[in-house]
Amino acid sequence: MQLDPRTILIIWSAINILFAGVLALVGSQSDSIRGARHWAWGDLLVGISFALCSNVTNPPQFYIVFFASLGIGIGLGLLFNGIQAFRGKPCSYWVPVFLAATLFANNFLFASIESEPRVRIFINFLLFGGIHIACARALIVKVEAPLRTAYWIAAGSFSLIAFLSLARLSNLLFLGNDTVSMFSTKGVNPYVFFFASMAQMSMSLAFMLLINTTLANRLIALAATDALTGLMNRRSLDLEITRQLANQKRHGECISIMMIDVDHFKRINDQYGHLAGDEVLRRLAHLMQSVVRTNDYIARYGGEEFCILLPGTNESQALILAERLRRLFNELVIEWEGDIVRGSISIGVADTRHDAHEAHSLLSAADLALYMAKHQGRNRVIAFSAYGKHDISVMASRS
Ligand code: GH3
Ligand code: MG
Ligand code: MG
Repeated sequence: MQLDPRTILIIWSAINILFAGVLALVGSQSDSIRGARHWAWGDLLVGISFALCSNVTNPPQFYIVFFASLGIGIGLGLLFNGIQAFRGKPCSYWVPVFLAATLFANNFLFASIESEPRVRIFINFLLFGGIHIACARALIVKVEAPLRTAYWIAAGSFSLIAFLSLARLSNLLFLGNDTVSMFSTKGVNPYVFFFASMAQMSMSLAFMLLINTTLANRLIALAATDALTGLMNRRSLDLEITRQLANQKRHGECISIMMIDVDHFKRINDQYGHLAGDEVLRRLAHLMQSVVRTNDYIARYGGEEFCILLPGTNESQALILAERLRRLFNELVIEWEGDIVRGSISIGVADTRHDAHEAHSLLSAADLALYMAKHQGRNRVIAFSAYGKHDISVMASRS
């Protein structure tokens, strides 16, 4: 098979320009994701410069040296800065400036003053390989799957281009003069062009995968979170309870649950306004976060009702925590537009040892205990096991 590097470069250029358009489109639809615009501009500049380079002669024409050096230098620098921006790291605008200046100086010096293609091509590929190594390095980060896969594909593509550039360098050093020209069809040169253009395609696809996976992760997080308090919502807590109960069946550890409801919350809303009520809910959420352990799960179960899932905790331990939470909230002074807002909470506690083994029965046991706490005058903690199941059910059915 005869591969012509010049033709491959034109295809490589077309791939860049095509993906520049796609990345610009994706970037414009996901404003909150940084980096996409850098990648689009980077691909475009490199693509146009490659198209220019495909017309280069030996010695090269000045306008090609000038525009291609600037385009490739700035373009590759933008790809690097795009990765930095995507990861939320600071971008350095010295990277494109340094690359463009060095590429230009190298090509200008060795093309117009001293015609020495071997050194010129060597330095070009050294810079080209170097920036690709820097990009691959910046893409090696610790993240969860599936984002990790996208990072690895991008890092792999950059590494492949870096490796091919280094292969071309050694080819220049160790092989005869017939491999020196830019578009030599000898040695590894045609294969370098072919595989690098393929790697370019997978790199751009990986950029799109990075953007899409990040957007999907954000949507999943949004769907699992309560907007007002930032806590888990009911749906994600229900899933977590089911998961924890399945674990519990395997390991036999006890799980507790607390149902928490703000007392006379309607009065707070009526007296101080709905926004003050919102602030009370946020402060309560914050307080719960400061009281529980990191492996406990707090959720807004709906309205002014919250739920805490405590894996590895029995009822008496949960009661101590619930009592602490009740007392702290009772002591909490919330300033709202010159007013002092105070409130109290009632808490129902249930655990898997005493009360229930299914998600819905554990929740309803805690809910019935909460009902008892309300019934007995509010601002208190009640354990479901303190009453017979029957007593509570009868009481609940009477109300
Ligand atoms: P109890 O002590 O029996 O629990 O009385 P309560 O007034 O707290 O209970 P009730 O169910 O009568 O009222 C709950 C109120 O919570 C009614 C609803 O308008 C309010 N509420 C629900 N969600 C929100 C919210 O997101 N923000 C605010 N500010 N109020 C909310
Ligand atoms: Mg209430
Ligand atoms: Mg309620």
